[in-house]
Amino acid sequence: MGDRTAIEWTQATWNPTTGCDRVSRGCDNCYAMTLARRLKAMGQPRYQRDGDPRTSGPGFGVTCHPDALRLPYKWRRPRLVFVNSMSDLFHAQVPRSFVAQVFEVMAATPQHTYQVLTKRARRLRRLAPGLRWPENVWMGVSVEDAEVLHRVDDLRIVPAAVRFLSCEPLLGPLDGLSLKGIDWVIAGGESGRGARPMQAAWVQQLRDQCATEKVPFFFKQWGGRTPKAGGRQLDDRTWDEMPVFATEN
Ligand code: SF4
Repeated sequence: MGDRTAIEWTQATWNPTTGCDRVSRGCDNCYAMTLARRLKAMGQPRYQRDGDPRTSGPGFGVTCHPDALRLPYKWRRPRLVFVNSMSDLFHAQVPRSFVAQVFEVMAATPQHTYQVLTKRARRLRRLAPGLRWPENVWMGVSVEDAEVLHRVDDLRIVPAAVRFLSCEPLLGPLDGLSLKGIDWVIAGGESGRGARPMQAAWVQQLRDQCATEKVPFFFKQWGGRTPKAGGRQLDDRTWDEMPVFATEN
């Protein structure tokens, strides 16, 4: 958990939970799982619980950190906060009451804008009616290939002020994607050892669909051995569009 991050589109991270399990192809090279193993070896107290070796790893067992709930109150200057870079808030092992507490904190700190991203879209959909949805909470789902387009349908009915898609790592064309009810799309390739290459046609198709449907599009990076290895240019320019809501702030 830290208050600075290298993720391009956010300014802070907040991890009220840590740990997770792989659920789809997008998880195969999960950077958080690798980092958790390292943090456990370094003795970091938040990463001492091991996950299921078939789907998780050392130090990556799902753990709630009630003490972390206080952190956003301590940040006096407004921040764009990425929630749970080291976990998935809607994991089945995170109690519903704890998810609700996280949303209460976000509602009580309207000076910050929160970006919550999940691959557990079905649980998000189930829990959404019982959560508070203040305007400063942006809710997103990961969409790495067409196999998981059902996550977009689940997100569409969530009453968030901004609903976004994180198409990263983009692992295939998103044929059949509907952007109805979606306010922002982020795309990017995978980075790190064993990174799976992203084809230009996949991301161009997505960008063109966003342009046609007037949905802001943000291109993070091509990926490769390091996040910056392939640069950020797509067809000779960068794409840094943000939701209309964000540019008004
Ligand atoms: S859902 Fe996210 S945090 Fe969990 S294993 Fe997959 S990539 Fe990692």
